[in-house]
Amino acid sequence: MSRKLDAAIAETGTRFLIFPQPRFIQFFEQPEVVKVTIPPNQILPGPADDRMYVLDAVNKRPYNRFNQRPYLGTFNPPVLPGADGHFDHLDLNSREFSAATMYATVRRVLDIWEDYFGRRIEWHFRMDFEKLELIPLINWDNAQSGYGFLEFGYGRTPTGEIDLSRPYCQNFDVLAHELGHSLIFAEVGIPSNNNNNNEYGGFHESAGDLVAMISSLHFNKVVERLLENTQGNLFTPNELNRIGELSESRQIRELFNYERMSTVSREPHDLSLPLTGAIFDVFVEVFQKELVQADLISPELARRSLHSLDEEEDDDAIQAEFAAAYSGKEQQFQAAILKARDYLGALLADVWNRLSADNLTYVKVGLEMLNSDLSISGGQHQTTIRECFAWREIRFPADSLIFQIRRLDDCGLVSYV
Ligand SMILES: [Zn+2]
Repeated sequence: MSRKLDAAIAETGTRFLIFPQPRFIQFFEQPEVVKVTIPPNQILPGPADDRMYVLDAVNKRPYNRFNQRPYLGTFNPPVLPGADGHFDHLDLNSREFSAATMYATVRRVLDIWEDYFGRRIEWHFRMDFEKLELIPLINWDNAQSGYGFLEFGYGRTPTGEIDLSRPYCQNFDVLAHELGHSLIFAEVGIPSNNNNNNEYGGFHESAGDLVAMISSLHFNKVVERLLENTQGNLFTPNELNRIGELSESRQIRELFNYERMSTVSREPHDLSLPLTGAIFDVFVEVFQKELVQADLISPELARRSLHSLDEEEDDDAIQAEFAAAYSGKEQQFQAAILKARDYLGALLADVWNRLSADNLTYVKVGLEMLNSDLSISGGQHQTTIRECFAWREIRFPADSLIFQIRRLDDCGLVSYV
């Protein structure tokens, strides 16, 4: 699990600086020191390693369908480490910092997920390229991930112009989300008929958001801030919601949502919400079970805080009870959230390992979650998974063969004496 990973690389990893959330968000103005698994003597100038490299292209047009790797234009010299072999010495406002932090983010997210998978994740583009190409700063108000590359530009101002103060390559959640797509291509693959059914598309977007959420919970600051603001009551709008934060009030998507299958369209981003919501609810319930088990909250408070929209509960009273429980127990709440995080990370890795892209549906995701929970926790969360998926209306279609009733005479087993 990832708590083990961090202990393992504390001595051997290479230091980088990453902003856990964009630096214009209050409380996140300073970057956090993060270590990647590659030791200083194995990181190459770029930065680069055996899986990826940064290419700081200059005056580059975005790749498109007809014009992709290899890039033949000009680029800045590769970024070098400091005298101690680490990369945490760079000026936060330099291009070199952007290059290094983009590498560190992608490498860190890959490290985290290889740890959850318990093995190396092979790139889906390896028939053509050995390494992932990372292009940090092109003059473009957009960002894209493609076959063997991640290419990032800048955000937009409220009036729609390119905003050079907000490079996407420094946005941890956006990079993690894009790498999440690569993980799904690598581990779940693509449908063999090359048809992109709606739920496959929604599943992809949902996986990207979940990869970003779980990865961002590896920053101490994110965990601290989340708990300080919620006092452990995660069934409220909170930081984790703000995946891909673009400003204080604008984000890409919401993990904590009330969408059900009947309330969303078939557009992949919209359709991703009930699945993400179901899996997020499982995470919060697992966290609350940890709190109950450690005697930090009562089972009754856990139950009341899970209330759905249709139930009347006194939200202020619930929040006050969480505040009382949290006060003085910050460390224990943190330990509980990291346990829930690592359960969900390991669970999703196992689910993606089992899933096939062919005719992928959300019901199959739910079924594999039940299977994975059996092997990871011995089945402790079966009811939780079942209920969270049911609330989101993720179920077999009403006309599914699975509901067919078979009588003995349908099976030719009735004996007429
Ligand atoms: Zn996406």
